[in-house]
Amino acid sequence: MSLISFIILLLIHQLLAQECTIKDRDGVEICCPGFLKDQTNECVSKCKNVFDKTPRILIVGAGASGISAATRLLHHGFENVTLLEAQNRFGGRISTIPFGDSFIDLGAEWCHGQENNAVFELVKDKDLLQHSEPWDESYKLVRSNGEIVDDYTSKKLKGIFEKIQENKKDHLKNYNDSLGAYNKEYFLKALEEDTYATIDRDIAMEFLELFQKEIASAEGCKDVYDVSGKGNLQFKEAPGDQNMDWKGKGYVTVLNILMETGCRDLGILHKRILFNNKLQTLN
Ligand SMILES: Cc1cc2nc3c(=O)[nH]c(=O)nc-3n(C[C@H](O)[C@H](O)[C@H](O)COP(=O)(O)OP(=O)(O)OC[C@H]3O[C@@H](n4cnc5c(N)ncnc54)[C@H](O)[C@@H]3O)c2cc1C
Repeated sequence: MSLISFIILLLIHQLLAQECTIKDRDGVEICCPGFLKDQTNECVSKCKNVFDKTPRILIVGAGASGISAATRLLHHGFENVTLLEAQNRFGGRISTIPFGDSFIDLGAEWCHGQENNAVFELVKDKDLLQHSEPWDESYKLVRSNGEIVDDYTSKKLKGIFEKIQENKKDHLKNYNDSLGAYNKEYFLKALEEDTYATIDRDIAMEFLELFQKEIASAEGCKDVYDVSGKGNLQFKEAPGDQNMDWKGKGYVTVLNILMETGCRDLGILHKRILFNNKLQTLN
């Protein structure tokens, strides 16, 4: 038999071999990973054995935390793991979507830091990350009516933004209001300085709104007025490169590694995630 015919036969065998599934105590069909059904059905008893001997574990949420917990449990022999996911997709705040011939991240995008960072630890030897510049400070400001803000005004306003960020550590230590209130207070204070006297107030206020939204996006919150000012200082950066990207493949790369996806969409979590299932109450 030639090598090619052997490979074709092997592929046909793999295609015909069914995955071994059993019904759990609730009658839900669960895939038994690692077992392929052969004619003897022997796998079912083996599979059942594994399931019956390990505790049933339900994980709420198939975001990075849930996926990480589930895959770790599986590696430690806990086979009876199910994830309940409210949405119709996994990933939670990690959402990489196709865009043109590449991908874009709607949520998490960069790997921040190289020490004490579980994400970096997981991928550091796999050549998946590269240094990336987070944004280009030369961006133009465009008003909702399409008017492009002149470079002088733009530079001045961005300067206030930078100053507020730089002074955050000192100012927020004893600040008792929200991060949004802090940004606004110091922004308005800066505007009173002579150097900003010629800046159009309407444009300045529009810029403040943009600035607050940018901070909200970085904080991962809906409203910066919900974020504690002082609490913001508790965030500790992991040392090392703060802006590493996934070479155009998106943050979902790290979830794919955890799930060990090869040709299967959900890898070792195949048939273990119950989508569109929101946990409503816990008794
Ligand atoms: C805009 C944005 C940018 C970010 N940028 C970065 C970045 O560049 N780098 C970085 O490292 N981090 C970044 N983060 C943070 C990172 O995305 C999160 O820390 C991480 O994804 C959180 O994962 P998680 O599993 O803990 O929570 P989530 O991702 O929120 O997952 C929780 C999951 O649980 C599900 N769920 C919730 N309630 C229920 C329920 N009752 N029943 C069933 N399912 C439920 C949700 O649908 C969701 O899928 C960013 C976050 C945002 C929002």
